[in-house]
Order: sequence, then structure tokens, then C-alpha cells
Amino acid sequence: MTLDAKIPSGPIEKKWDAHRFNMKLVNPANKRKYTIIVVGTGLAGASAAASLAELGYNVISLCYHESPRRAHSIAAQGGINAPKNYTNDGDSVYRLFYDTVKGGDYRAREANVYRLAQVSGNVIDQCVAQGVPFGREYGGMLDNRSFGGAQVSRTFYARGQTGQQLLLGAYSALARQINTGKVKYYARRDMLDVIIADGQARGIVARNLVTGELETYLGNAVVLATGGYGNVFYLSTNAKASNATAIWRAYKRGALFANPCFTQIHPTCIPQAGDFQSKLTLMSESLRNDGRIWVPKKKGDTRNPADIPEDERDYYLERLYPSFGNLVPRDVASRRAKDMCDKGYGVGPTKLAVYLDFADAIKRTSKESIAEKYGNLFDMYHEITAEDPYKTPMRIYPAVHYTMGGLWVDYNLMSNVPGLYVIGEANFSDHGANRLGASALMQGLADGYFILPYTIGDYLATTQFKAVPDAHPAVAEARGATQDRIARLLAIKGKRTPDDFHKALGQIMWNNVGMGRNEKGLQEAMKQIAALREEFWKDVNVVGTAGDLNAELERAGRIADFLELGELLARDAHYREESCGGHFREEHQTDEGEAQRNDKKFSYVAAWEHAGDGKEPKLHKEQLEFEYVKPSQRSYK
Ligand SMILES: Cc1cc2nc3c(=O)[nH]c(=O)nc-3n(C[C@H](O)[C@H](O)[C@H](O)COP(=O)(O)OP(=O)(O)OC[C@H]3O[C@@H](n4cnc5c(N)ncnc54)[C@H](O)[C@@H]3O)c2cc1C
Repeated sequence: MTLDAKIPSGPIEKKWDAHRFNMKLVNPANKRKYTIIVVGTGLAGASAAASLAELGYNVISLCYHESPRRAHSIAAQGGINAPKNYTNDGDSVYRLFYDTVKGGDYRAREANVYRLAQVSGNVIDQCVAQGVPFGREYGGMLDNRSFGGAQVSRTFYARGQTGQQLLLGAYSALARQINTGKVKYYARRDMLDVIIADGQARGIVARNLVTGELETYLGNAVVLATGGYGNVFYLSTNAKASNATAIWRAYKRGALFANPCFTQIHPTCIPQAGDFQSKLTLMSESLRNDGRIWVPKKKGDTRNPADIPEDERDYYLERLYPSFGNLVPRDVASRRAKDMCDKGYGVGPTKLAVYLDFADAIKRTSKESIAEKYGNLFDMYHEITAEDPYKTPMRIYPAVHYTMGGLWVDYNLMSNVPGLYVIGEANFSDHGANRLGASALMQGLADGYFILPYTIGDYLATTQFKAVPDAHPAVAEARGATQDRIARLLAIKGKRTPDDFHKALGQIMWNNVGMGRNEKGLQEAMKQIAALREEFWKDVNVVGTAGDLNAELERAGRIADFLELGELLARDAHYREESCGGHFREEHQTDEGEAQRNDKKFSYVAAWEHAGDGKEPKLHKEQLEFEYVKPSQRSYK
């Protein structure tokens, strides 16, 4: 198989415009002859479904929540990037492109990243027009703040609720189309398989989560906007229900899975408090604008932070990276926090935490101005830890947060399966080995509002479609496979709960495939996951039946997929014998402990093909070319 990314030729600033012009259009009267299935109603899915319906296509939109508004995107706190340069601090499309390629440790496609930077301004305009209440400065202009990995302020925000406000905007656009009848919306549907007929993605099989019935939805193209798979680690900042099933089933039907090992560990999460926790809570990166990160200079110092004088504190990020200070990218900040704790400087009851301190900012400005910017985050911290961050520093520690890997897509956001599009966190583009903060919302909305609506038209206009009725063998086969799988899970009647297996998987993943990875640990992880998977299929206990609401059955299916994905993730991490971004192979580091890439051998996208159950997946490589931002050792000093 040759991977063709279909990157248009010509200078980088002109590629997207030229491509848009060269793509075939569907005439307005013909648009109503096509049906597009959009799975997921997060920022990517809601924006795509609304835009496609606005264009005149028939859209089927579904998600497993009771309302589109419940998608995980709602949790995003900090902000969304765009190089508007309102503040004249030197931002530009090119600088955003540059920062993103560099921030991703030179493992993303230049053409995609440039396009993302180009359309990001439109995303902000669109959201403002929808009424998203972005923060404004005193003159009424939209305000900006800075985020890690950039020396300019380009992050638009709505207090600490940016995702929620953006989702309300996209949701209203979607609701408008549901009201016109162009979007048929189905709540509480769990997509369990993709239907590929005559080589084209033509539909999906979904379980009605209330009645337990299997339903099929058929159309001309399928868009997966189903989010990330960070929950493979069990504990993560992701919504508890986020999972990999949709993309994993597509993988098993032939879609390639790219860069599964690129996982983002976020540096500012509330540390784990005990063994019975089911998720972790993020404290937005925006807090690093005003919060200073430090640990005591003395190992094992148990003094109250207020009693530790200034000269006995180590503001280690400011010391090690004077130019970027507390705003170094997430991979760098996470590794440094771990390093400090590993060396014995950690604070709090578990010693797996560092301080994020606002005392200076409050002194410099006022408690009110800090509350205005981050009030809801401070309240959240207070609720969870019973400590008041206005008075004492927050304790933070890195946690799994985002997955840069996902299904491989070309420049048109289409997977290698014709008609199967993948957008938002579910695909592998455009962040390379590390995502800069506030860039996921930007990418999800850019994909949904401004890229997919163009590229999917070209596919529809240039493709012949045969009728795929319910009686098509591909439909029966996908339904049958789903039914068998559910029956198999229910028949095991073992002794361990699905969650118990998930927790065990999470421990293997975090210990061996977490912030630091090495040859021995990865070999071990692959072996342990395979054994755990075998045990799962012998000893899981899924209570209830298939014919009604059954949360345990939902969970079991998702964990079965995580068990397979976890192994692919470890395999990919094992194969990639270099450190880059969120993938830190301990064998490959500079004398200063920074990630050391091996561009000669690994400057490619690793795209894995399912070769059949029990067989080793096949690796395909998409070579990455860097014409504009030449790879160099990343430095934030
Ligand atoms: C706590 C937190 C804070 C964050 N803050 C920021 C931030 O400030 N800025 C930023 O840029 N990024 C942030 N991120 C990342 C960002 O929120 C996500 O990457 C982004 O929202 C993902 O959007 P999405 O539309 O791709 O997926 P999601 O919002 O996860 O939506 C997935 C959708 O797919 C549906 N779905 C999934 N599987 C199925 C299935 N099998 N069947 C049916 N439906 C399915 C779900 O119901 C849901 O509707 C944050 C992430 C977290 C965890």
C-alpha cells in the first residue's frame, strides 16, 4: 500500500486556495441527493454536521450522549488559538505555523499545519458571529492570553469555559439544522461498526443505548468525529465516557491507525489522591500565564509552602528555560515536573506534585483580577482539594490528556478507506508528536467548519455510488459481527468487572508507556497487555442483557477495544527508537535530558494496518518533508 497524502503542489501559502479551486463542486440542487453520516457532536462533529447541512446535504448526526451539548469538548477550559495579532506582538499565520510544527517536534505535515493556521482566524470570526462570549479587553476588542510553546498572545478564551461556550455556538448551529430537518439527530446511539460496501464507507451500525436494538444508518460518506483515546490509560483528564471504539472498529475494517504512541501528558493536573479515583482533573494551562511553578530546594521539605522563603525555592522552569519560563510546551513542563519529583523534590502527601503559585500575580495585580480570569478554575480546585488557591499554591502533577495519534487521513481529511473521513481529535493530524495548548479546539473547528465541507464535496462529485440497501451483504455482515460480539461478551459470565480490567490496563500503560518509555518496559507492556486481554475474554463479568439500557455492556465493549489499542500503542512506541514530543524513549535523550529525535530514521508518520486478529499489524510509512521549517533541536531556553 502506498500512502498518498494528496498534498497539493505549489508554495505553502497558496496550496489550500489552489486546492479549493481545483476541487470539483456539487451543484446546489444535487447536494440534497447525498446523505452524510457524522458520528460525534463535539466541536468537530457539531461544526461539520451544521456546515454540511447548511450547504444542503442531508446529514445524519449521532452521539452516545442524550444531547449534543454533552460532548467532551465541553470540558475544554483554556482557549483557542488564532494569529489575529490584535496586540501587535508580532504574530502571523507563518508564526503560528512555525510554532506548531516546532512544538510538534517536526512530526506533523507542513501543508496541513499551514492550512490550519490560515483558517484559524475564520474560526474565531465564525464563533464571534454565533455569539460566543470571548473575553474582551477594555476597548471592546477580543482579548488574548498566552499559552505554552509560544512567545505571543494568541489564545482567545471565554474565562475557563472556552470549550463549553464554543460548543454552545456549534450546538446552536446544529440545532438550527435539526429544526430545518436537514440534520436528523439521534441521541444515545453508540457506533459499533462501520459498513464498507464495494470498497466505500457507506454506513454504520449503532446500538440504541436505551432499547439495546442494533440500528443501521446508510449514506454516501461517513465522518468520524469521535474524539481521543486518552482513557486507554484509565486515569486521564478526559470525560469518563471518551473511548476509541469508533476509530478502532474502522481500523479493524482497514483504516490505518497513525502514530498511536503520541500521547500528550498535561503538566497541570490535580494530583491523584487515592486508588479509587476514576478520573483526573485538569487545571488549564492558561494558569501558567500568572502562576509560577516551583519546588523547595531541599529534598523532602515538608514545611508549609508559605514558610519556605524565596531563596529556598527552585522556580525550575524559569531557571532552565529563561526565554519561555513557565510557558514552555507541555511535554517539556511535564517531563521536568516528573524529573523534580523523581529526584525527591515533590510536595504534598504523595510527593508526586509541584507548586503552581499565584501569590506574586495577586500581589502584582489583585485577587479580583485573578478571579476574573480564572475564577471558575480556582473554585474547581477548591471543591476538589479543599484548599484555597488564592491563599496557598495549587499542587499539580502531569496526567494523560490528549492523543495526537488517530486514524490516518490525507490532506482532504479522508482515511485510506474511500468515503471515510476523520476529523478532530479522532484523526492523527496536525499536531505531530506534541500538541501546543489551545490548538485542539482550533483544529476541531477548522476541520468541521472550514475544511471538510470543501473536501467532501470533491469526493461526492467525483465518485460513482451503487445503491446500498439494508439487504446488502456488507450491512448484514457488519450487523452480524456486532451482534456476535455483544453475545460473546454477555456469555462469559466471569468474575471480574470490566472496570477492574480497565484499571489493570491503565496501570500497565502508565507504568510502561507513560511519560518515560524504554525497551524493557515496552516489551513488558506488550506481553502483559496480551495476557490481560486473554484473561478479559475468559473472566469478565458483564451483567444485564443486550436488550435494554446496559452501561456495563457499553463499558465492556470499549475496554475490549482499549485492550487491543493499548498493545498497538506500546508496539508503536517500541518501534519508534527516538524521543520526540510526547514520546520520550529514555534511551534517547540529550545530555540535558531533552528529547533527542532521530530525523534520519524516524521522520515519518507511522501508519499501522490491521492484519487480522492475532497477527502482527503491518507498518506503512508516510515520509515527512520539511521545506519551510527545518528540523533542529527544539530549544526553549
Ligand atoms: C479537561 C480538558 C481541557 C481541555 N482544554 C482545551 C483547551 O483549552 N483548548 C484546546 O484547544 N483543547 C483543549 N482540550 C482538548 C479538546 O477539548 C479536545 O481535543 C476536543 O474537544 C475534542 O473534540 P472532538 O470534537 O474531536 O471530540 P469530543 O468533544 O470528544 O466529541 C466526541 C463525540 O463523539 C461521540 N462519540 C464517540 N464515540 C462514539 C461512538 N462510538 N458512537 C457514537 N458517538 C460517539 C461523543 O458522544 C461525542 O459527541 C482539553 C481537553 C480536556 C480533557
